[in-house]
Amino acid sequence: MNKRDYYEVLGVSKDASDKEIKSAFRKLAKQYHPDVNKEPGAAEKFKEAQEAYAVLSDESKRRQYDQYGHAAFDGANGGAGFDFSDFDFGDIFGDIFGSGFGFGGGSRRSTNRSRKGADKLMRVNLTFEEAIFGTKKTINVDVSEECSHCDGKGGLGEKTCSRCHGTGTVTAEQRTMFGSFMTRTTCPSCNGKGSTYDTTCSKCHGSGRVSKNTDIEVKIPSGVNTGNQLRVAGKGDAGINGGPNGDLYLEFYVKDHEFYVRDENDIYLEIPITITEAVLGCKKEVPTLYGNVKLSIPPGSATGDKHRLKGKGIEDLHTGTKGNMYVVLNVAIPEKLSKEQKKLFEALEETDLECNDQFKRIRDFTRKNS
Ligand SMILES: [Zn+2]
Ligand SMILES: [Zn+2]
Repeated sequence: MNKRDYYEVLGVSKDASDKEIKSAFRKLAKQYHPDVNKEPGAAEKFKEAQEAYAVLSDESKRRQYDQYGHAAFDGANGGAGFDFSDFDFGDIFGDIFGSGFGFGGGSRRSTNRSRKGADKLMRVNLTFEEAIFGTKKTINVDVSEECSHCDGKGGLGEKTCSRCHGTGTVTAEQRTMFGSFMTRTTCPSCNGKGSTYDTTCSKCHGSGRVSKNTDIEVKIPSGVNTGNQLRVAGKGDAGINGGPNGDLYLEFYVKDHEFYVRDENDIYLEIPITITEAVLGCKKEVPTLYGNVKLSIPPGSATGDKHRLKGKGIEDLHTGTKGNMYVVLNVAIPEKLSKEQKKLFEALEETDLECNDQFKRIRDFTRKNS
């Protein structure tokens, strides 16, 4: 195929000024841009004009062309012609298509607009005491931030996308029973960015984002419980294109205590007492969240008896009021007795221990039942 002379393509004279060349190209681009002109051959004409403009608008390339003609750009590429795909047509297309046509500039803005970084959720394990009294924790978190190696672009050696010519969109004709429609979609070659890259960034592998491991000091308030979340503002993923950072959410998981059982802001503690303590009553030293207290257990106590220690529960996360503590008695029946203990129990058995009415009523019922 015989290549047309670049000056001829643009319809300018050999001594045309830069301004004339630019204006001639703009005129042709407007006429033949594939987004606008669907006539057969228009795309080829557009490409031809692009190529001519890429050469003639560049002072040194134009000089080479003037001297050697098309041969100046042949050979090295196996006769493939001058590669103009790295030529930046951006400003020209912005001029032509920017506002009037509502694409090009528009779609580029949408992918380059600033966005808030993603929020992060992290589970934080707390001991029972840490949850109740609050603590300071160093949280190690992986957040993503803009890759500094490629400035978040994902590649190096930016050039105008040769498929969409920097507009970020491609137009396709869709035939339906109602007729043909032109649909505009994001350019698949550059994903709407309008530019492609010579090399993919080796640091972020093209994503434009890298993971960064950081330690964050967090003050955890007192009274948190499993499932509670704490928002740490601005500690999520870094914003995109200058947008604000996302937030970090910490979700707590509180480990069980060996003895205390938590119910909202109340604390339950089961304490074992002996039979004689239950029968005779006693004073017991009981551990609470706020130190030990002496608890009076009255004579005749039974398993399941509950003693309330007012205000010895957990301070509410929001209101600051304290819950209660409940001491629940468990009368332990001895499984092994010493000889002496056994004698004492046998002596006790001789006495009448049937202490309430129920013993007699059940005995009568059993007799009747036989
Ligand atoms: Zn593209
Ligand atoms: Zn990178």
